[in-house]
Amino acid sequence: MLTPAERAVGRWWRDQQQAALDALNAVCPPDESRRPFVRHIRHLCPAGKHRSISFDYAELYLPSPQMSVLVKQAHSPAEAGISLGDPGDTDGERVEIPAGRFAFIYHEGRCAGCKRTARSKTGRVVDGLTRKPAGKVVTSIV
Ligand SMILES: [Zn+2]
Repeated sequence: MLTPAERAVGRWWRDQQQAALDALNAVCPPDESRRPFVRHIRHLCPAGKHRSISFDYAELYLPSPQMSVLVKQAHSPAEAGISLGDPGDTDGERVEIPAGRFAFIYHEGRCAGCKRTARSKTGRVVDGLTRKPAGKVVTSIV
């Protein structure tokens, strides 16, 4: 079970990774995006005489780094829930998050023939303690 503070950190970290994925998709737009449960993408390959060929839509698993963050409780009803404090601020709860506590998962694939590309538009964060990698482990979204 995640504590509320861990959940807040997980959400914050997910937003960082999603921003990196959005940036990558803006610079290198994929030809298509599929839902995360898709494992293989079948297409009529122009490099293969328009035969139906599939390529892997492989999982990329990005473990979270070790994080030490200050989590602030909401002081007024206007502040919704928990927010992350400034690093110099000491008014809050210091939460140490070990490396690999979360993982950001997205999918990517490319046809070896026609170079058609696929990449997730949206990744998701999982509990790194219970959800282990099912594919390649990466250290950053590039
Ligand atoms: Zn192809």
